[in-house]
Amino acid sequence: MVRPALFILLVNTVISCNNPKSQPKAMVIVHGGAGYITTDLMIPGEEEGVRDAIEKSLQKSQQHLANGGTSVEAVRIAINILEDSHYFNAGKGSVFTSSGTNELDASIMNGQNGQAGAVAGLTNIKNPIDAAIAVMERSPHVFLIGKGAEEFAVTHGMDTVPQSYFYNKHRYQEHIEGLSEDRSKFGTVGAVAVDHNGNIAAGTSTGGMNNKRFGRVGDVPVIGAGTYAENGIGGLSATGHGEYFIRNVATYDIAAQVKYGNETLDEAGYNTLMKKLKSQGGNGGVIGLDSQGGVVIHFNTVAMPRGYINSKGETVVLIDVD
Ligand code: ASP
Repeated sequence: MVRPALFILLVNTVISCNNPKSQPKAMVIVHGGAGYITTDLMIPGEEEGVRDAIEKSLQKSQQHLANGGTSVEAVRIAINILEDSHYFNAGKGSVFTSSGTNELDASIMNGQNGQAGAVAGLTNIKNPIDAAIAVMERSPHVFLIGKGAEEFAVTHGMDTVPQSYFYNKHRYQEHIEGLSEDRSKFGTVGAVAVDHNGNIAAGTSTGGMNNKRFGRVGDVPVIGAGTYAENGIGGLSATGHGEYFIRNVATYDIAAQVKYGNETLDEAGYNTLMKKLKSQGGNGGVIGLDSQGGVVIHFNTVAMPRGYINSKGETVVLIDVD
């Protein structure tokens, strides 16, 4: 006779073996910043440049996952490609502060072990996401800022660049014209990946907001605001008006609805972005992957370059509201 407890165990085992959801598929999703630049407002060549960079970012990252690589490294690969493109407000294409300088922020979270790393106010590091990963993996700290973060990055072999590396005619024009924070393109970049072991990682990198006061730090390097990952729950990377994302602890707010409530990651993302933040005037968006690699995308602006590789292996890149 099968005892009840054993029977339940047997049934659960059979269900989980038959359930395709128990085998997470390696997967990556990226964003290039929520904002107001729809494809019809883009300058010549911009749409192609944005699409090409997102495609390349997804494909290189997915290739790494297909070779058995980790989700943290997949996030780095995806974000590095976007940081090196001048079409996004991160790395090379970063916006200017009100003082005409560039101050870059980034963060990473590893959902497997809850480790995180963040940097803020970098002025000379080419790829801030690399510095954030180094803080996570090679220091006992979570968050380094300014000169201390730069020195740490250099000590750990990160490439440095002069401030002129960040000069871009269009960005500079936005700075000079003093476009309001909301009308200018946000353009932050982010990536979330799940690897073959089901480990989730999320990362985000930004130049911040156009004409931000120098010394201002947004949500991007604040764990639980701009970036969050937890195995079994999901991974999230946000973009938008950072002050709202900090005040609402936005990415953790989404994860907490899954963790302590009955919401799916998708429903939770909708609640936070489309109800809570929107009602406060908090413009922006979020991308994520749930614990099974299910795609989550929500934004309350009119555009957010974004992409993922669908179940047929096709690369999907979108910019405007569908
Ligand atoms: N969230 C970023 C910040 O406030 C800006 C953005 O996403 O474009 O610094």
